[in-house]
Amino acid sequence: MSILVWIEQIQGNAVSSCWEVLGKAQSLAAELGTTAVAVVAGDSVDELAQQALRYGAATVYTASSPVLARFRLQPYTAVMEAAIDAVGATVVLTSATNQGRILAATVACKRNAGLAPNAGDLRIDDGALVVERTVYSGNIIADIHFESELRVATVRPRSFPMPQPAAADGDVHALPISLNEDDVRVKITDFRAANTAEVNLNDARIIVSGGRGVAADPDKGFQLVAELADVLDAAVGASRAAVDAGYIPYKHQVGQTGKSVKPDLYIAAGISGAIQHLAGMGDSKIVVVINKDPDAPIFERARYAIVDDLFTTLPALTEEFKKRLG
Ligand SMILES: Cc1cc2nc3c(=O)[nH]c(=O)nc-3n(C[C@H](O)[C@H](O)[C@H](O)COP(=O)(O)OP(=O)(O)OC[C@H]3O[C@@H](n4cnc5c(N)ncnc54)[C@H](O)[C@@H]3O)c2cc1C
Repeated sequence: MSILVWIEQIQGNAVSSCWEVLGKAQSLAAELGTTAVAVVAGDSVDELAQQALRYGAATVYTASSPVLARFRLQPYTAVMEAAIDAVGATVVLTSATNQGRILAATVACKRNAGLAPNAGDLRIDDGALVVERTVYSGNIIADIHFESELRVATVRPRSFPMPQPAAADGDVHALPISLNEDDVRVKITDFRAANTAEVNLNDARIIVSGGRGVAADPDKGFQLVAELADVLDAAVGASRAAVDAGYIPYKHQVGQTGKSVKPDLYIAAGISGAIQHLAGMGDSKIVVVINKDPDAPIFERARYAIVDDLFTTLPALTEEFKKRLG
């Protein structure tokens, strides 16, 4: 009986939200009197395995093969199944990234296990895992209890603090698994990294988002949004209205049908605050709103409200932050 956490890597670098999940798994494991075990897969994962030990894994299981260099569902599922068997896992956790979600769902299907997606919190009740997640656009917090022996959950990035790395203390074991490229039905023919500095909304501590309020001059509006984001080292977000109008690509969309984010600071410029937008950013710690309409519903979520034109407010903020942040 153990808690198994998948440590996702992209080009050999761990996705940081996986360490948050591992940190939480460690405290849950202590409550259950068991251990948190990490599984890492990739082309060469020795350094990642050491990192997982430093971030709190009691044991790390590894699968190293060129077949695993980039994420593909079929071989990664095989690795997860081998790890579940090796560990005797009763709980499997992944970060709720795109790949973490699809991997968790596939593993849950293959193992006939219950799946709780996009957890905002995890706790132990009567010796069993209970998952908290928001439903109905964030209006209800649901407790998910499992009936299956194996419990699978994906955890929303930034739901838990980043653990402090310590001296590596634990074992690393290679999983007894052999993978053959010829057996993998998906082939990756090309790989082009997205400009993650621009789009990495999931991990962003600060997000500056633009909405249909830029309509008078969308290019200029999103340029002003991007300039403020640049000064604050923030990611750029958008409402669906802005995406649907073609002002900015879908990958920036925040909300029910876009990304679900949880930054420390969310600056919304020219966004009215429809329930579907709030569903994606309602858990932000501090919300700053820039909107010409003092009655815009998003002001109800604002810690700081600026009732003004975004075309003058955004550059003024950028200038001021430039001065103060150097
Ligand atoms: C099934 C479904 C799923 C959806 N999913 C999403 C989703 O994932 N994300 C999402 O965002 N929406 C989603 N929507 C759409 C949502 O209902 C809203 O239509 C959308 O969020 C509105 O975007 P907006 O706030 O940018 O535009 P608007 O509602 O048009 O608001 C624009 C705001 O800009 C202000 N403004 C105008 N000019 C200026 C200016 N110069 N300076 C300052 N302020 C100005 C206005 O006062 C207004 O408040 C979904 C809808 C449905 C039905």
